[in-house]
Amino acid sequence: MKLLQDRIQKQGKILKGNVLKVDMFLNHQIDTKLLDEIGKEFYKLFKDKKPNKILTIESSGIAIAVACARYFDFIPVVFAKKFTATNLSKDVYSSLEHSYTKNDDYNIQVSKEYLNENDNVLIIDDFLANGEAMSSLIDICKQANSQIAGCGVVICKTYQNGENRIKDLGYDVKSLTRIRKIDEKGNIEFD
Ligand code: 5GP
Repeated sequence: MKLLQDRIQKQGKILKGNVLKVDMFLNHQIDTKLLDEIGKEFYKLFKDKKPNKILTIESSGIAIAVACARYFDFIPVVFAKKFTATNLSKDVYSSLEHSYTKNDDYNIQVSKEYLNENDNVLIIDDFLANGEAMSSLIDICKQANSQIAGCGVVICKTYQNGENRIKDLGYDVKSLTRIRKIDEKGNIEFD
């Protein structure tokens, strides 16, 4: 997606550990027009799969998933929670996720009320790096006996193994931007 590549080139910053910071338009301040284009693009990629629900993970995935849901005629968005809250049902699907950016483990949780065997789920996230978050979301869908319509990511870092890991599990992964290299000077190469 050219629009997204241009923004990454212009405003993306490279942090330690090959983390691409896109706070200016995606992860902290959100460019809502760009987000709408992202939603539209995911719709084009997955409309034939006819998902009835979108699953993502807090927090950065939420806005993206909602932008996407509009195009699928306002289907519900469910997000996996990383932190247990008193108001979260005790009856949950849970899966362990190692967070790439926080270098910490989370037991992500989704209430059983919101995912079941009648669902055909589109999984959406902002980044695909080592595939931890995506694998945990897939695991949650499996526990719920939901179908997986596909996996969509805004930015896939193809020099990490996440994309292959998810494809090897047999799922359709589509990304809006693919980064094959970030060099020592912070230059970004797209596929
Ligand atoms: P994975 O689980 O695939 O290793 O990493 C994906 C998750 O980590 C995403 O949910 C995303 O929030 C975060 N992440 C991974 N790499 C990056 C990155 O380069 N920049 C940002 N901002 N987040 C990342």
